[in-house]
Amino acid sequence: MRYISTRGDAAPIAFDAVMTSALAPDGGLYMPETWPQLSADEVKALATRTYPEAALQVLKRFTGDAIPLSDLYTAIIAAYRRFEAPEVAPLVDMGDGVHLLELFHGPTFAFKDVALQLLGRLMDWGLKKSGKRALIVGATSGDTGTAAIEGLRGLASVGVVIMHPRGRTSPVQRKQMTTVMDANVRNLAIEGNFDDCQAIMKALFADASLAHYGLAAVNSINWARIAAQTVYYVTSAAKLGAPDRQIDFAVPTGNFGDIFAGYAAHRMSAFDGRLIVATNENDILARTLATGRYEPRGVVETTSPSMDIQVSSNFERLLFEAAGRDGAVVAGLMDDLKTKGHFDLTPVMRAFIAARFDAERVTKDEAAAEIAAVYKASGMILDPHSAIGLVAASRRKRAGVPIVALATAHPAKFAEAVKSAISVPPPMPARLAALENLPERYDTLPAETAAVKAYIEAFVSGNT
Ligand SMILES: *Cc1c(COP(=O)(O)O)cnc(C)c1O
Repeated sequence: MRYISTRGDAAPIAFDAVMTSALAPDGGLYMPETWPQLSADEVKALATRTYPEAALQVLKRFTGDAIPLSDLYTAIIAAYRRFEAPEVAPLVDMGDGVHLLELFHGPTFAFKDVALQLLGRLMDWGLKKSGKRALIVGATSGDTGTAAIEGLRGLASVGVVIMHPRGRTSPVQRKQMTTVMDANVRNLAIEGNFDDCQAIMKALFADASLAHYGLAAVNSINWARIAAQTVYYVTSAAKLGAPDRQIDFAVPTGNFGDIFAGYAAHRMSAFDGRLIVATNENDILARTLATGRYEPRGVVETTSPSMDIQVSSNFERLLFEAAGRDGAVVAGLMDDLKTKGHFDLTPVMRAFIAARFDAERVTKDEAAAEIAAVYKASGMILDPHSAIGLVAASRRKRAGVPIVALATAHPAKFAEAVKSAISVPPPMPARLAALENLPERYDTLPAETAAVKAYIEAFVSGNT
């Protein structure tokens, strides 16, 4: 299996190279050259496998010859052993055909652990094999940085620099990052929003003078993350009767990585059904689906900060698909975005997307009302991101078709928003409560690429 760029102008590379790189040299994102296929019998068989067994069956189709199966399985076992739920991703029946897929039982209590626990181990495996080093530069709205640091801390072959928007992550999220004192980890509080952090990251990845550091991404532009996330779509669809019956998914969406993994699982023939993009007030994707115009506006702060994003990197992967895999078309749209501040989908692209995706915008108040309603009905406490997915699922529920809402974070990560919805604070897992009294370490920088670049050069040369 080889990987090609969404902008059509980069040499194809193998999975291990994709995993330890960032953007393709032409500025695009890597995509599998073809969609691997699961037969109906293979999908059905996964319904009763353990999560690691299922992960091996799905992921070997993306890793191809690049990683020996025994090494892949070792990494998978080690990654998912750290999850507190034995099923890794438990599927909870909420009644009326709505199911909640709990993805927050990993070490940092957000779904990003599912991919980053594995990515850290696979990167370590790859770098040991090649004798190279990598420098991870990441931008986070909270959860990616936390999960990346937890997946990569202490590794001798990897340096990790994570930017978060100063004051815009929840206190728990910040402390999960800034209390990590491993020598290979640095945190930067950037005086800006998440999109500023992501723009700096992309500028650094495009800076040839930094290439010799082996810059690698842990954001969902890294295909290995998307690949890892396809697994729970396949397993949950299989458990609910796919591919013999349709299954829909409602996905709390920010950078479009998670829902794109759902699209990938659909293209692998794991299930047929609709993919519901659930957004908060930062509704660029809902607007794009409704109007055909992709046009970022200012970021609004909400109670679901991991979705406070206006520039959804992975949408480019869907554009590539919708454009019939014509990289020149994607490059043209990205040029429009840069020069005009927006781009317009062609009618064919709009139809391609509308054939599979719907979108629902859910406000803070609606999310809070959902948290309160579910708590009252069942005693279950949702976090705001998961609540947005559940609202979208109930709005889009089709008769006779099960829908899976992805629960992406543990409520304790967003305790303030939860408490204001239900008047009591969510129970704090001991590991999160222990953060309260730990010292923090981070540096504050302006939202300027040059400042971050200088910091990185000092870090790599051992001067910070
Ligand atoms: C990252 C994140 C999301 C959004 O996922 P994307 O892949 O960026 O669309 C939703 N909820 C939580 C809790 C997250 O951490």
